Amino acid sequence: MVVNRAAAPVDQQALRLRLLRQVSAGRLNIVADALSRRDSDLASSTDESAGAALCIRSGPTFGLFADIRRATATADDAVLLQQQLTAGDLEEPWRFSDGLLLHGRRIFVPAHDDLRHQVLQLAHSAGHEGVQKTLHRLRTDFYIPGDRALVRDWVRSCHTCQRNKTETLRPAGLLQPLEVPSQVWTDISMDFIEGLPKVGGKSVILTVVDRFSKYAHFIALGHPYTAASVARAFFDGIVRLHGFPASIVSDRDPVFTGHVWRDLFRMAGVQLRLSTAFHPQTDGWSEVVNKVITMYLRCVTGDRPRAWVDWLSWAEYCYNTSYHSALRAMPFEVVYGRPPPPILSVDPETARREVAGDLIRTRDEMLAESLDPRVKRKLGSRYAGPLPILERIGKVAYRLQLPARARIHDVFHVGLLKPFRGEPPAAPPALPPLTDGRILPEPAKVLQAQLRRGVWFVLV
Ligand SMILES: [Zn+2]
Repeated sequence: MVVNRAAAPVDQQALRLRLLRQVSAGRLNIVADALSRRDSDLASSTDESAGAALCIRSGPTFGLFADIRRATATADDAVLLQQQLTAGDLEEPWRFSDGLLLHGRRIFVPAHDDLRHQVLQLAHSAGHEGVQKTLHRLRTDFYIPGDRALVRDWVRSCHTCQRNKTETLRPAGLLQPLEVPSQVWTDISMDFIEGLPKVGGKSVILTVVDRFSKYAHFIALGHPYTAASVARAFFDGIVRLHGFPASIVSDRDPVFTGHVWRDLFRMAGVQLRLSTAFHPQTDGWSEVVNKVITMYLRCVTGDRPRAWVDWLSWAEYCYNTSYHSALRAMPFEVVYGRPPPPILSVDPETARREVAGDLIRTRDEMLAESLDPRVKRKLGSRYAGPLPILERIGKVAYRLQLPARARIHDVFHVGLLKPFRGEPPAAPPALPPLTDGRILPEPAKVLQAQLRRGVWFVLV
């Protein structure tokens, strides 16, 4: 094989990272607090900042969790439950974790102060939904004995609901249904809510509902809308995410819908002549969704109806995460295959910890593989060393005594090191070969060498 030595260097940055990972240290147990702590506490991610860029992970916290923890420690019902748990009278899924009594993923809310009111408020004010949906939302995150009666009273006495709801919504059960689609976002229905206060030129909501999952998107439109403006909004809001549907159900006249189709395909660069087939059918679902969204916007905007545009995205999320008795699920679950993130996931003290540990391990394994091409060969060692420590720098870095010919910086983050145990070997350890920060393959034997235009070509 002829190797041009000048062409051999490996990417310098990747190499540096790889080398750092390979270097380990001897006699670290003398000043090893940072090292030993790190291994035993994967959850502390503050010393994961091994890269050059400093990133800050942020997340919300609610005072509600602190209140529930305090109440769990003192309130009679919570104390009784804990005693039963300790005595073995309460079984799975009950458990006590980080100051909270948990029933599966749900947090037990003690009857203390206005805690249960706060939680009911949280579940109901998300969308001012009826008893069943509010109850479902509540039960996603919280455990309250006798919650159905509490929710029923709460919803009945909600001022906003009483002011804004005129009728009970009757979902599509009584309507003549279309044939049931077999997958998500292939068959959709499209409708318009008109007559909203004009804000920023918009006074219409285009509602697009996937007929399989009932998942909906709400898009604000200007008035008067045309086939072209509807097609543009549809392309940007629906096709971008889900591709082209196979059918659109709409109560607009066929000419209008035909033009929407034509414009949609034109935007995708399709030049084919298009004819649209029409089958007069009714789909009550759009109408239901329209009533839901109108009612919702009325509830949340209250005395400021012009704020409807600001609430549209939240309305969409609330609608998609509300429980549909016909589906026996939320549209969100049907589309994504998992429920929406539980409220517990914003509490850094609880359940996330185990998951985070898993993620860190997985990510570390992936990092190791991506940084170390020798992993592919399986048998190369992951670390080099042991190397003596010269000094400790700050809490998370060490200066190591590298071999004289080493060309890498001698300070390492603890994340790249691990303590060496046992007797250090007599001979100094070998580092991977390095020339000016570049790694070179080491030929077993040079068979022939030739100088061409100032470059050495060698046969190895
Ligand atoms: Zn309400």
